[in-house]
Amino acid sequence: MPKKNPKIVERKLGRENAYGQVWLYKNPQVIEIDPNLPPRKHLEILCHEAAHIAFPDLEDEVEIDRIGRCIAKVVWLANYRRVVLPTPKKSRTQKKR
Ligand SMILES: [Zn+2]
Repeated sequence: MPKKNPKIVERKLGRENAYGQVWLYKNPQVIEIDPNLPPRKHLEILCHEAAHIAFPDLEDEVEIDRIGRCIAKVVWLANYRRVVLPTPKKSRTQKKR
């Protein structure tokens, strides 16, 4: 079965004692990331979790972390930034009846 695009879920992860986590064996794969991270850290964690997806057999967390930091640094230096768009609220006409 072809892999779907990973789903990115913003969720407070204090209980998991983590900034992010990835579910590699779900389809679609799921990246969960804490929404309260500062922008640079958010990017770093996202790249870290993406590295887990790119290299599913690489179990060396230090190496995954190095890859995530390297990609985040390059992306950040190229001035990519996160823009949080407001989620549209459902109007009365869009609600299910
Ligand atoms: Zn990791």
